Amino acid sequence: MLGHRKILASLQEIIKNDNVGHAYIFEGPDGIGRRETALSFAAMLMCEREQAPCGECKSCRLFAEGSNPDFQEIYSADKSISVDDIRNVLRGLVIRPLYSRYKIIIINDADSMTVQAQNALLKSLEEPPPYVVFILTVQSGAAVTPTVKSRCQRILFEKLRDEEIMQILEERYGRRKPEWDFIVSYSDGVVGTALELVESPGYLETRDEVIRAADQLLKPGDSDVFKIYELFEKNNDRTEFMLRIMLLFFRDIIIYNQTSNYNILINSDKKDMIIENAGAKLSAMLKCINAVWSAKRSLEYNANFQLAIEVMLMKIKDSYVY
Ligand SMILES: [Zn+2]
Repeated sequence: MLGHRKILASLQEIIKNDNVGHAYIFEGPDGIGRRETALSFAAMLMCEREQAPCGECKSCRLFAEGSNPDFQEIYSADKSISVDDIRNVLRGLVIRPLYSRYKIIIINDADSMTVQAQNALLKSLEEPPPYVVFILTVQSGAAVTPTVKSRCQRILFEKLRDEEIMQILEERYGRRKPEWDFIVSYSDGVVGTALELVESPGYLETRDEVIRAADQLLKPGDSDVFKIYELFEKNNDRTEFMLRIMLLFFRDIIIYNQTSNYNILINSDKKDMIIENAGAKLSAMLKCINAVWSAKRSLEYNANFQLAIEVMLMKIKDSYVY
């Protein structure tokens, strides 16, 4: 299980003490492992044996195949969960569980339930059949009505520490790779982000290209702003990622410039390039960082994409680094 061992242990304790509630809210940012934990909890609840989940009993096997009739999951289609989505699931709750003591319903992104959907759910939360357990995953409890919230036990998913994320990567993928320092820093405590970066090499390639471009811009002479813009246009579905890469690269140059310590660089696998640029003036680096921030802000206000990016690139090129 990815991180959150304490949460899992407390859920195990709840089952052991026969103290299972009817509804839980798992709250935390996207990618932090709420659904994975909910699935583990469901597996433990549904297993027919003492050492749950055993992976062998009928209930466990059906669950692993995705066909356990005592388990249902709701996702938000079209960005919201409608009253019909909820009603469809609630209708089946009158039938007792077939294989285990419980029927489990996971409502993913429950903060996207419409108010009508929440009201429909509320009736079941107030008088649930004794065998039903709801697990609602939310980013923030703010979008859930207080009446629904008051019927649920809230479990908060905190961000993981850098060491914990690194440990998870090592458990999953084996020996530490040079780019993992960057991945851990970038993921900011959200393990899903770290896994996504490791598993989709496209991101790391884009990162290499962005850093190379930023490095070029800092060199006096003939970096071609319009050519570099093409890189941004080609990857315009991951602009935010690219802008953050630039910020972290400039941040590292400042850090090395001020400390001469390459052990605290985020892009430790790019340290040669960072050291090479460390002669830059602090004021120039701050100009670069400002340029990225203002591009980010302009884009948030729907400024013209090309203009915002090109202005940023020109400002970086003209930051009088040397
Ligand atoms: Zn089992």
